[in-house]
Amino acid sequence: MTPVSDKELQQAIVTILRAIGEDPTREGLVGTPGRICRMYKELFRGYDPAQKPRITTFENDSHSTEMVFDAGDFYSMCEHHMMPFFGTYWFAYLPNPKGKILGISKVARVIDYCAAKLQVQERLTRDVVEMLNEALGDEYPPLGMALVMKGTHLCKTMRGARKEGMMTSSFLTGRFKSSAALRSEFLKMVDNKVRM
Ligand code: ZN
Repeated sequence: MTPVSDKELQQAIVTILRAIGEDPTREGLVGTPGRICRMYKELFRGYDPAQKPRITTFENDSHSTEMVFDAGDFYSMCEHHMMPFFGTYWFAYLPNPKGKILGISKVARVIDYCAAKLQVQERLTRDVVEMLNEALGDEYPPLGMALVMKGTHLCKTMRGARKEGMMTSSFLTGRFKSSAALRSEFLKMVDNKVRM
């Protein structure tokens, strides 16, 4: 695809302003196309492979297979309406005793990166798990990974369908899929809204 100049993008935003019935030349709006253009570079940095987070991993020296847990917030933009959706994520994984372990602070970075593009919540959930799995390598993959995301979609809530605007997506691999006990242990933390 041919790159789009900042000027072209700003002209497109001026067109949108006119289309919704605004006067793009009025004082409050003069700087708006430029501001949106700069903001998009940050909101959509997930299209730039150079900004992909480097995921540091460590040797699993203690050969632990205990569940490691993380939770936090996420913000993304829905691909159907280019409107924000955002909420809370809960992540857990079981390290491989012979494999690597994740620097847990990297989970939030991976979520931020995968969310910084037009997404649907289901694909975002899967993208994050896949990127984290990949970082841990094929030789001794983690014994399981689980990610649940609960998001509010402004394209729905702002239009009145409040209940429909909330959605939950999940992606489970390995033992989180095969062991009902482990899965319910994880989902209990989700239900109790455990935050680290
Ligand atoms: Zn939408």
